[in-house]
Amino acid sequence: MVSQPSLWNTPIQYAKGVGPQRARLLAKLGISTVEDAFWFVPWRYDDRLEVLPIRNLLAGMKATIRGRVERCQANTTSRRRLVVVTMTVRDETGVMECVFFNQPYLESTFAVGVPVLLTGTVSPNPKGFPSLLMKGPEYEILDGAGSFDGAGGRIIPIYHETHGLSSKQLRRIMHTIFDQYAQQLQEILPSNLRKRLRLPTLAEALPVLHGPHQHQSVSLLNQHATPEHQRLAFEELFLLQLALAMKRHRQVTAAPGISFVRNHALFEQLRTALPFLLTSAQERVIAEIFQDMGEPTCMNRLLQGDVGCGKTVVALHAMVMACGSGYQAALMAPTEVLSEQHYWSLKPLFDALNISCALLKGGQAGGERAAILENLQSGDLQVVVGTHALLQPDVYFSKLGLVIVDEQHKFGVLQRAILREKAPWQPDVLVMTATPIPRTLAMTWYGDLEVSVIDEFPPGKKPIQTKLFEEKQRNRAHQLLRKELETGRQAYVVYPLVEPSEKIDLQAAMEAAERLQEQFAPFRVGVLHGRLPSREKQAVMAQFKNKQIDILVATTVVEVGLDVHNATVMLIEHAERFGLAQLHQLRGRVGRGQHQGHCLLVHSLGRIPSSPQQRVLNFERSLGGRQRIDQVSPSATATRSTAKRRLAVFAQFDDGFALAEEDLKIRGPGQVLGVQQWGEIAFHVADLARDVDLLSKARQIARELLQRDPDLLFPEHQAVKETLLRKWSEKLALGSIG
Ligand code: ADP
Ligand code: MG
Repeated sequence: MVSQPSLWNTPIQYAKGVGPQRARLLAKLGISTVEDAFWFVPWRYDDRLEVLPIRNLLAGMKATIRGRVERCQANTTSRRRLVVVTMTVRDETGVMECVFFNQPYLESTFAVGVPVLLTGTVSPNPKGFPSLLMKGPEYEILDGAGSFDGAGGRIIPIYHETHGLSSKQLRRIMHTIFDQYAQQLQEILPSNLRKRLRLPTLAEALPVLHGPHQHQSVSLLNQHATPEHQRLAFEELFLLQLALAMKRHRQVTAAPGISFVRNHALFEQLRTALPFLLTSAQERVIAEIFQDMGEPTCMNRLLQGDVGCGKTVVALHAMVMACGSGYQAALMAPTEVLSEQHYWSLKPLFDALNISCALLKGGQAGGERAAILENLQSGDLQVVVGTHALLQPDVYFSKLGLVIVDEQHKFGVLQRAILREKAPWQPDVLVMTATPIPRTLAMTWYGDLEVSVIDEFPPGKKPIQTKLFEEKQRNRAHQLLRKELETGRQAYVVYPLVEPSEKIDLQAAMEAAERLQEQFAPFRVGVLHGRLPSREKQAVMAQFKNKQIDILVATTVVEVGLDVHNATVMLIEHAERFGLAQLHQLRGRVGRGQHQGHCLLVHSLGRIPSSPQQRVLNFERSLGGRQRIDQVSPSATATRSTAKRRLAVFAQFDDGFALAEEDLKIRGPGQVLGVQQWGEIAFHVADLARDVDLLSKARQIARELLQRDPDLLFPEHQAVKETLLRKWSEKLALGSIG
């Protein structure tokens, strides 16, 4: 119910000087309301603070001067019909000339007497007088708008542009918006909270961000680290954390959960059936899960652990707990290969415990599928493993008590919800991810979940040796591979297979397999790719496992799940085309047994320095990362140097969490999490690679606040509540809150 217009429901089109045409351009920048415009903060700031007297200028220096227009005239050159605007500018110490090419409108911009700030490179004036000249300098008209009064230079805010709307024009628009609407800016953060965190009000922060004072630190502004930036970032993080905490709170209290009981005899049997002892990290997270499952509220837990740390057996324990209490369990994996892998590795253990278990997948014969569905519905079937085929509307459970989702990040928040809805009560949910997620991302993306971490590997796992090879050095990589084959080991050779060029990629992989077969005979080469019928995939994987194949040429299907201890080499072709997380998953396929693992990356990026400059990186990120993800694709060179950076980082770090943090710094959350997923929660100002501390604070404060006021009924929480509902209730399926 909206009683009066607010900034968030005032279309930008109605702002003075905007109109429908500009509104369309602004929409491309994500600005459709006046509120959006206020939150569209500059992505960087230009330092034009140091102003030199004209008298002190020397040819060759880059400088900023401040003066008044003395004369301005446009001429058209006779030969090339070029419009040249010539302007002279005077300060207290002297005169300088400026020329601008092909911008005839400048003649009227630079009216006589107008105060200007000019930045450019000084050169000798061929005309001789005045003696110095600036060609096409950056200019600012100092008309006193915003907070730009006073003498000296300025800090110039630079906005992301879109075709037809320059940063300079955006600055003008911002000025008028401030004039027209700044009075209406509302503070939503309770004042005691703001004081505690020493944050300015929104109305104090915004003018600084859009028109910094001369005394502000340009470098802090550029790092987006001023208290004003923090104020905006905090609001964004806080609202989401509050929404997530509310969601969590309601899930816990709304519907009754199941109190599972521990069937000790069953777990005795399981202990004897397992071929190994659990690591202490596994024991710990199993205890955490059992604790949750034993409570009458429902579990909502994330299990994080690097590739190969042994999450499957933890999932197994949870499923046995559910079945032992008379309920059904579902295990959902993102690919068919992975769900089959899970099924075949779990089946013998379930058999040993007399727990019935089936695999549900696409393309199953009608009768087979019908039988599984029937048994699920009757309750005869206790465990079902499958892909998102499990989400189909014809899948009914008799007593679904536990849902486990593997590689959770591949599924959206909504899919997480669908499986849960397949039970009349709230089943417990355990989501697992082998893609380590930076702490900040986990806290936002999984903010409604409790988190368990396996931070230890089964005994005997050694760090994998990772080496980079340029394409012309491929032979050296092949030599290393051959050496391993000769000592009886096996190898993976992986090719990328990416959407638009999928067919070509596949063909390249097949041809490469043939060449490898010739080159490495008598060693045997097998091929595995996504287009193979499932039966054939199965056969190839079995052959590799039984050592009837020495080199498995594969497209990315081995990314998840394959577990062959004798394989020690992972050679990745076109490594530059893979993301860090993917590379890490691939590397996790080797070094699983007692032998040293090797990861060999072949790339076409030229020489890669082992520690590329951080500075370059930050710049790229500001190009690619800070821009709104849907509008800008970074330039080819930026992509290339990002790829270099990625491979250098990958060779340097073995630990998945360290890699994930680096990945977040390089690519930003949109790419790490998947653009689509990130689109659900993208922020304007907050930056999950940078605002780690701010996020922890936001989370802690959100939880404290809800303890005191679970339904946000206090008067000082009304503004927060309103904004929270407006921004998050739909996305997080919060429904209506009292
Ligand atoms: P991930 O966490 O990547 O899913 P898996 O569950 O597939 O890892 O386990 C990786 C490998 O380690 C498997 O071969 C599994 O049998 C083995 N494993 C798991 N836990 C242990 C343990 N405690 N001791 C020895 N091997 C283990
Ligand atoms: Mg796994």
